[in-house]
Amino acid sequence: MARYTGPVCRLCRRDGMKLFLKGTRCDTAKCAFERRDSPPGMQQTRRGKLTDYAIHLREKQKVKHYYGVLERQFRRYYSEAERLKGNTGDNLLTLLERRLDNVVHRLGFGLSRSAARQLVNHGHITVNGRAVDIPSYQVRPGDVIRVKNKAKSLDRVRQALGEGSGRDIPDYLSVDSEGVPEGIVGRLPSADDVSLPVQTQLIVELCSR
Ligand code: SF4
Repeated sequence: MARYTGPVCRLCRRDGMKLFLKGTRCDTAKCAFERRDSPPGMQQTRRGKLTDYAIHLREKQKVKHYYGVLERQFRRYYSEAERLKGNTGDNLLTLLERRLDNVVHRLGFGLSRSAARQLVNHGHITVNGRAVDIPSYQVRPGDVIRVKNKAKSLDRVRQALGEGSGRDIPDYLSVDSEGVPEGIVGRLPSADDVSLPVQTQLIVELCSR
């Protein structure tokens, strides 16, 4: 699946908030957004007044950048969210939060979503005992997400767990990092479990135009 490969700090500056796309660096003084929170580009020293469309668009872009999905994939999530019962905006966040790469990141096995995606892509992760190398795999309650019992896989994940120790694990997950690290999905995530402050209503208004 295609993904954005450009400089990610630009995305934070463009969206006007920290999206935590670079792992531990995001919590340090080296964070590009902390140093310069103006939009990227030449002579962009301040944010102009946004049009109504731009306000709506920014909310959508924030979510796409945060979860690392491109437009076509995002549209598919949106169609699925519309089809499901309940609030479309909340459904959308739930579907994105259930992505395997996101869950691997939130368990602390990868310091960023892109690092977690690479772990999944490279076959270091199993779900219920079976290797799953699809980052968009939707986790379900009861799923056991485990790191492969191989030195290469364990080294990478233990390093991430060490560097990211102290980060909050969301309520819908539990993690056991003794021995071979594993996490369990206790329940479906809700919109409240998403740590990104976003107005989903604006996304729904934009996508349903
Ligand atoms: Fe965003 Fe992290 Fe870069 Fe800061 S360091 S601008 S939070 S990606």
